[in-house]
Amino acid sequence: MPGIDLFRLDGKVALVTGGTKGLGRSMADGLASAGADVVICSRNGEEAEGEAALLGEETGRRTLGVRCDVTDPGEVEALVEATVSKLGRLDILINNAGINIRNPIEELSLEEFEEVMSVNVRGPWLCSRAAIPHMRAGGYGRVINMGSTLSVVGVPGRTPYASSKGAVAQMTRVLALEWAEEGITANAICPGPFLTPMNEPIVGQPETERFILGEVPMARWGEMTEIQGAAIFLASEASSYVTGATLFVDGGWTAH
Ligand code: NAP
Repeated sequence: MPGIDLFRLDGKVALVTGGTKGLGRSMADGLASAGADVVICSRNGEEAEGEAALLGEETGRRTLGVRCDVTDPGEVEALVEATVSKLGRLDILINNAGINIRNPIEELSLEEFEEVMSVNVRGPWLCSRAAIPHMRAGGYGRVINMGSTLSVVGVPGRTPYASSKGAVAQMTRVLALEWAEEGITANAICPGPFLTPMNEPIVGQPETERFILGEVPMARWGEMTEIQGAAIFLASEASSYVTGATLFVDGGWTAH
């Protein structure tokens, strides 16, 4: 019985968008520690290359850092091509790159709403579309989309973000259905609050205490390593019969 070996990712190639910091960086670490070679991207090419080199030194895996804005179809195609040409295949895609612009609806511009929708929804759609032919060709595929507790729960001042993360959950279900017979899975990880650069602006605010930490039964931020188990599981053979799922890593927020 393979047991724990089902979680190993040796020989697999993973692409983590927005893998230079925050949850993406932590998941890139996790996948590499399980044996995967890892590509990360962000809009800052220097940072992507630097963090990829560091990740390679820390884990001994092959790594690649690429500048890519996930909202740009040409850059996304080039990112996937670079992954396959330099590392030979593409097995795992984590659609992690995301942004949040917070304000009540009347204080938001249309441009701000569209920017969030573009990075958080158009980005995963473009990356999934570019990646799937290579997963099919390699006979293994895992697409992991980063949803949020706000895929299903509302918080005031989050119309762009919550709308986008609700869409991510639905995109995940549809992709799961499209690929199910081929054994290629699509799942969403829905984190609760983690203290990443995205959330630094709201640390210590009364609203954060009330609407975020106040809603989490564990009454704390997630630790960066607490996202890794979900990512390794959904990237690996261990999750071969799991598709279309939303896995909440949220300290119990959505349990009540
Ligand atoms: P973060 O710390 O702000 O990091 C976001 C990453 O995405 C950075 O590497 C950023 O790099 C990259 N990025 C942003 N826009 C991009 C674009 N257009 N193209 C390519 N890369 C882009 O965010 P995080 O908190 O780790 O969040 C990661 C994911 O988890 C997001 O999808 C977020 O919505 C989701 N999530 C986070 C939390 C949380 O509590 N932190 C909770 C629920 C869900 P550049 O800016 O240099 O491009």
